[in-house]
Amino acid sequence: MSGAELVLRDVVRPWAGSTAFLFEGGPLADALRNAGLTIRLARRGADLTRLRRDVSPLRALPVLGRLAGLALELGRAARACDVVYANSQKAFLLAALPARLVGRPLVWHLHDILDGAHFGRAQRAVQARLANACAARVVVPSRAAAEAFVQAGGRRDRVTVVPNGLDLILDPRPAADLRAELGLPSGPLVGVFSRLAPWKGQDVVIEALALVPGLRCVVVGSALFGEDAYAARLRELAAARGLTDRVLFLGQRDDVPRLMQAVDAVVHPSVDPEPFGRTLVEAMLAGVPVVATDAGASAEILEGGALGTLVPPRRPDRIAAALTAILAHPDDLAARTRRARERALTRYGAARMQDDLATLIRQVAARV
Ligand code: UDP
Repeated sequence: MSGAELVLRDVVRPWAGSTAFLFEGGPLADALRNAGLTIRLARRGADLTRLRRDVSPLRALPVLGRLAGLALELGRAARACDVVYANSQKAFLLAALPARLVGRPLVWHLHDILDGAHFGRAQRAVQARLANACAARVVVPSRAAAEAFVQAGGRRDRVTVVPNGLDLILDPRPAADLRAELGLPSGPLVGVFSRLAPWKGQDVVIEALALVPGLRCVVVGSALFGEDAYAARLRELAAARGLTDRVLFLGQRDDVPRLMQAVDAVVHPSVDPEPFGRTLVEAMLAGVPVVATDAGASAEILEGGALGTLVPPRRPDRIAAALTAILAHPDDLAARTRRARERALTRYGAARMQDDLATLIRQVAARV
């Protein structure tokens, strides 16, 4: 599941009895069913997940008929509900008009950062205008995402920041034991935990590794949204820098917390602004030092660098220097990582996120 789907899985845990209208089946549908939601699968949804944000209008044309049918299905489903909650950009774009037509208020949980790095001008304008016209509330996970929405033309009085929240079950065993069990090498080891995508910046960490002799890195995640060429390029880059045995590609994993506990530091190298970054919170909860690029919400989560090291984007030299410092003096950071864990526990728990959203949705239902 993508980060936004993992958020949805946690958001709806107290929503048993609600209806989830999904474009297709899969792990998300299973997770929502387990939470007690009734699943309605769109009859015309399958093609939609293959439609990318950067698709040309000409290539999108053949699916327009299906989209219209889907909008009808959505309208019918919305009529049976008090509030429509759209958890993705596509869901919002498709549900906005149908929900309005059947007179149901709509909450858009915008997980993206609506800025020029991620969206074209026209895409930003369409989304912001549609939100102004059709969304009762727009929920974003950070102040950075809220600001981008407003800059794109969205109404400030519609936006509510609800930081993502999650709970982590930690393994009580020491890192050395975890490494042995996971088949990871001993010695200096860092990790990058993200789907593989150019803007997530895994290539910058590989370049950084070339500057720190003996350092190894686990690259966890896969190309979830069709970025296979980038995934291939990462392997080529590692080979070209002579790092094949120091960059360990572990693919998509469902044991991220354990892997994080096993490494000496987590690097979050996004080259474009992050709307949030669950990975950062997970690393804080795991009690591992973090190095992150100062782009988007990372600085909010790491409190301007007080809870982790912030470096400028696209700077392998700065990542290398930060990791060298962490590995040389791990004890210097013990207090900071402890503080980071405490902050993550109090600010970014799942229950707080669930409560915030439940309150907001109740208010919308009551048309407050
Ligand atoms: N993740 C995972 N397995 C992987 C790689 C990532 O479960 O192999 C999880 C990661 O732990 C985090 C989420 O995917 O919970 C990514 O969320 P984030 O907000 O960091 O990034 P997004 O992909 O939503 O931009």
